[in-house]
Amino acid sequence: MITTHQKPDADAMGSSLGLYHVLVQLGHEVTVIAPTNWASFLNWMPGCKLVLDFENQPVKANAAIEAAAWIFCLDFNILGRTKRMEQLLAAAKGERVLIDHHEEPQTAVFAYGISNTRKSSTAEMIYDFIVESGHEALINKDVAACLYAGVMTDTGSFRFPSTTASVHHMVARLKELGLEHSKVHEALFDNFLENRFRFFGNVLLNRMEIFYDLNTALIAIPQSDLLKYDIRTGDTEGLVNFPLSIQGIKLAAIFIDRGEERKSSFRSKGDFDANTFARTYFNGGGHFHAAGGKNTESLDEAVAKFKKAIRENEAQLSSYPKA
Ligand code: 5GP
Ligand code: MN
Repeated sequence: MITTHQKPDADAMGSSLGLYHVLVQLGHEVTVIAPTNWASFLNWMPGCKLVLDFENQPVKANAAIEAAAWIFCLDFNILGRTKRMEQLLAAAKGERVLIDHHEEPQTAVFAYGISNTRKSSTAEMIYDFIVESGHEALINKDVAACLYAGVMTDTGSFRFPSTTASVHHMVARLKELGLEHSKVHEALFDNFLENRFRFFGNVLLNRMEIFYDLNTALIAIPQSDLLKYDIRTGDTEGLVNFPLSIQGIKLAAIFIDRGEERKSSFRSKGDFDANTFARTYFNGGGHFHAAGGKNTESLDEAVAKFKKAIRENEAQLSSYPKA
């Protein structure tokens, strides 16, 4: 069985399905389970139709978790990131194997695994795992497309510092093995509906606040906006990057009122540690420059907490990052 974090993104789904296609060729019986639903722009991924959504298909998913001899945990490192699956995974008989690139793994719950925060993406780690175990020949077009989607999105289209020479070597190899990269870009980035852009317009016009003295930008989105613009899973992805590209901005934050909880995302530049910030104030975590969290207080309370938190971090925020 292969699982990943709730609201799986392209790296979570791409690494899971990339590994799936290799294990199936090796004769294994494999089930991929996502803890929740995912963005519809991921539905093109080969094998996506076979992925179980735990919240929609709990009986089938439960049976697969109980039956599994091996449980691959990809692109997350604390069981809490699997939401309602957490208890089941903790109690499962199968050996849990971690492959992940996030900070501070819950090592005690994994029998085996690799945690490497310097890796660009879990997709890159799955590529290494396949190649180093001698199965490069099993990387076909489907595997290549899945892994490329993960590494391309997690590196911000190969712009983040995590984009090492190894990443480019991997992509070159995937091209030799049949990757059609333009198709992946089109499927992921040219597949949105008009409402998403009307929503973005509204957010940038009415929901964004800039604190120039702290080089910080904040977006807070009430649930009423999500309903008005018919916003679905994945539609808000990337929104936090807009204020981060404003000159001088060192920290960009977004709070979204999803009703059941307030979801937050943090992106930073230079020496500001978004992972520690998310952990300290918003029950979250992630990477140094990209982290997220969630809280149960109201949106107004979360925003007030954020404003107080950035004042507490004034020393780090008020200095502009070096290139
Ligand atoms: P995003 O802001 O795109 O949701 O997530 C950014 C990074 O932070 C991702 O690597 C993601 O795994 C991590 N992250 C997001 N939300 C949470 C959370 O609630 N808890 C933890 N530990 N990590 C999170
Ligand atoms: Mn990832």
